[in-house]
Amino acid sequence: MTVADILAGKGRAVVTTTPAATVTQAVSALAEHGIGALVVTDGPQRITGIVSERDIVRALADGGAAIMAGPISAIMTRAVVTCCESDTINAVMSKMSGGRFRHVPVLNNGQLAGIVSISDVVKARIGEVERDAEDLRTYIATS
Ligand code: AMP
Repeated sequence: MTVADILAGKGRAVVTTTPAATVTQAVSALAEHGIGALVVTDGPQRITGIVSERDIVRALADGGAAIMAGPISAIMTRAVVTCCESDTINAVMSKMSGGRFRHVPVLNNGQLAGIVSISDVVKARIGEVERDAEDLRTYIATS
C-alpha cells in the first residue's frame, strides 16, 4: 500500500498558512479543522515550513503568551521532510519514527499534493492487517 492509496481515500486537501500569519491565527485554524499541524507556504503550493501543536506548546513554554501575537515564521520547522505518492506506508512510517513527527506533506513535481498523518498511516495498516486476516480465514476455510 502506498501514499497514493491513502490519498485516494482521504482526499488531497491540505490546510495551509503563511509565514506572516500569527500564532493566534494558527491556533484558530488547528481548532477549526481539528488537525495537529499546518503546512506553511510562501507561494502557490510552495512549502517553506510546517507548524504543529508541539511547536506552539514549546514556544508558549519558552516565551509565554506574548508569542501568540508573533508570526508563525518564528516558531515553525523549516527543514520539512516530505514524501511522494509512490512511497510505501512503511517508508512513511520510518520517516515519522526516525524524525519523531506525525505529519508528512506529499509532494508531486515539487508541488504540495496532500498530507499524511500518523492516524492515516495507522488506519491504513489496520486495514491491511484485517485484509490479511480475512485472506487467511478464507484460505483455511477453503483448503
Ligand atoms: P508533530 O509530531 O507532527 O506534531 O511534530 C513534532 C515536531 O516535528 C514539530 O516541531 C514539527 O514542526 C516538526 N515536524 C512535523 N512534521 C514535520 C515534517 N514532515 N518534517 C519536519 N519536521 C516536522
